[in-house]
Amino acid sequence: MKEKKRDIRALTKEQLRDFFIEKGEKAFRGNQVYEWLWKKGAHSFDDMTNLSKETRLFLDTYFDINHIKVDDMQRSQDGTIKNAVKLHDGLTVESVLIPTATRTTACVSSQVGCSLNCEFCATARLKRMRNLQPDEIYDQVVAIDQQSRMYHGFPLSNIVFMGMGEPLMNYNNVLKSIEKITGEDGLGMSPKRITLSTSGVPKMMKKLADDGPKFNLALSLHSAIDEKRTKIMPFNEQFPLADIKEALKYWYDKTGTRVTYEYVVWKGINDTIDDVHELIKFCKVIPCKVNIIEYNSIDDPRFEQASPKAIDLYKTQLERNHIIVNVRRSRGKDIDAACGQLANKQ
Ligand code: SAH
Repeated sequence: MKEKKRDIRALTKEQLRDFFIEKGEKAFRGNQVYEWLWKKGAHSFDDMTNLSKETRLFLDTYFDINHIKVDDMQRSQDGTIKNAVKLHDGLTVESVLIPTATRTTACVSSQVGCSLNCEFCATARLKRMRNLQPDEIYDQVVAIDQQSRMYHGFPLSNIVFMGMGEPLMNYNNVLKSIEKITGEDGLGMSPKRITLSTSGVPKMMKKLADDGPKFNLALSLHSAIDEKRTKIMPFNEQFPLADIKEALKYWYDKTGTRVTYEYVVWKGINDTIDDVHELIKFCKVIPCKVNIIEYNSIDDPRFEQASPKAIDLYKTQLERNHIIVNVRRSRGKDIDAACGQLANKQ
């Protein structure tokens, strides 16, 4: 029986060289194909003009090139771009370019849908359909890098894994994509400009710490009180704050780098002085920084952005306790491209 074709970009350069050796060809053909795939961005074997027709046909019998396709691009009034990204099997994810005057940030997806069930997030309404492959994540970055050059005249500056999905639940593929993004034969970007954001999967946070990453870690905290966190992020029941704290300590012991806590303040949910005090205690666990992010409405009456006064209370109290805090405004709201709004509305 004929084997199913494989995604050729799931192979390393070594594996490609081995493939050619196995088939009785010269190993350097592997290097040539690798260069076509990753440096020259070939979308078909026919593009690989320094290979013979036979070799190209032969590759086509074993492999597919599963490129993503930006199906639809929306540009917001503030310059934010949202891409609907079509995958080879017809599924769609979204990725976003967020510009400021001096830099551009790519917000990329790691899964189609999401297996977590944060009550305030639009992506949670889609069930997890599948993990993205490393090259499907990489392609999102390449597409946004091109948009950055085209619209802003400079290459992409930063990447955040804050699109659809929980990156630590697609661990291997996310790490492979980062290897490619930072690698010499990929984009050569600095890992310091990459942030992986997690809802907090303690076991995987520890594994990540063991693997010695050079990129940044962010934790979506939203409440430092178990009872409340479980209400808005139900998986907190399985991964309670005590386990997350332990994983954070482990992380800091191994990596020596501070973690960013993402925090949305909602009216009547986490806007009291008690909530602030618990957050301050949580911030003493390891060196950290807090990003207070604006709530982006997903049309659920339970959730409403807290008052400016409540935000101010957080800010002043955190600062009084010498904790670094940023209050972030959202971008791209008019096209549903902001945090938590990615859900394939079209
Ligand atoms: N699963 C990962 C990454 C995706 S979510 C994580 O949870 O970190 C990226 C960020 O957007 C998280 O901090 C998440 O809590 C936040 N977010 C989700 N829905 C939101 C909404 N409606 N408004 C503002 N932020 C939201």
